[in-house]
Amino acid sequence: MATFLFDNIIFGPVKSRRLGNSLGVNLLPTNAKFCTFNCVYCECGWNSKGVKIELPRLGDVVPAMEKYFSENTQPLDVITFAGNGEPTINPDFPEIVVETVRLRDKYMPNVKISVLTNASNLKNDKVVAALKIIDEPILKVDTFIQSDFELINQPVSSLSIASIVDDISRNFARPIIQTMFMRGNINGTFFDNTTEESLDLYYNTLKRLNPSMVMVYSIARETPLSGLQKVAPDELERIGDGIRNLGFQVLVTP
Ligand code: SF4
Repeated sequence: MATFLFDNIIFGPVKSRRLGNSLGVNLLPTNAKFCTFNCVYCECGWNSKGVKIELPRLGDVVPAMEKYFSENTQPLDVITFAGNGEPTINPDFPEIVVETVRLRDKYMPNVKISVLTNASNLKNDKVVAALKIIDEPILKVDTFIQSDFELINQPVSSLSIASIVDDISRNFARPIIQTMFMRGNINGTFFDNTTEESLDLYYNTLKRLNPSMVMVYSIARETPLSGLQKVAPDELERIGDGIRNLGFQVLVTP
C-alpha cells in the first residue's frame, strides 16, 4: 500500500486531472490523516491511530499562503483546500476561507478557489457560509445506498447518506458533485456502485440535487483497501452519458 500524506500546509502546484494547475492547501495535520470518513480508496490511507492530532490554525495558514503568493508568480488555475483529510473539520475553516479570498483577490484575482469536501459537515452554518463564498465547492457523494456508503466511505460516526443529501439539497441550489466509481469487497462483503440498482438511485437523486456539474472518475492510485477494482473508461463514459441525458454537465476522468 503506497498511500501518502502531504507534509506541508501549502503543496504543489499539482497538475490535477479535474482542476488543472492546482495549489493545494492542507488544513489537516502533516503527520496524520484525519477525516470524518475512512474511504477505502483514500490516497492518504486509513485514518491515523495513536497520533496526536494537531491542526494548523489561522495564524499558521495565512502567513504560509501569503509567503507563497508573494514569492511565486507561476500561473495557477485554482487554489484547492484538500490534503490529509476533510478540510471543513478544521475549526478555523470559515476564517481561513475569508482570508484566502482576500489574498487571492490581492495576488491572483483570476484564480479560482475550490474545496474537496465529503459534505459531512453541512449542519455547521459557518462551514456552509464559507463553502458558499468558495468559487467551486466540490461535494463528494459516491453512492446513495446506505449500506454501500458504510462500506465505501466508512463514516467514523453514525451518518446517513440520506441526511447528507438533505443537507446538500437545503444549502446548494446547483452543487458540484464528485463520484468515485469502483468495486471491491471487505471481508467477503461485496460493494459495487455501478450496479443497475445503484445507478438508478444515483440518477434519481441527481435529479433532486440539480447539480451544475458532475465529476465522474475511478481509481488512479494505490488504495488502502487492497483488491479494489477500477471501473473501465468505456463504462465510466456510459455512466457519464446517463448523467448527460438528464441534462447535467459531466466531466469524466478515466
Ligand atoms: S473523504 Fe476524502 S480525505 Fe476523507 S477518507 Fe474519503 S477520500 Fe480520504
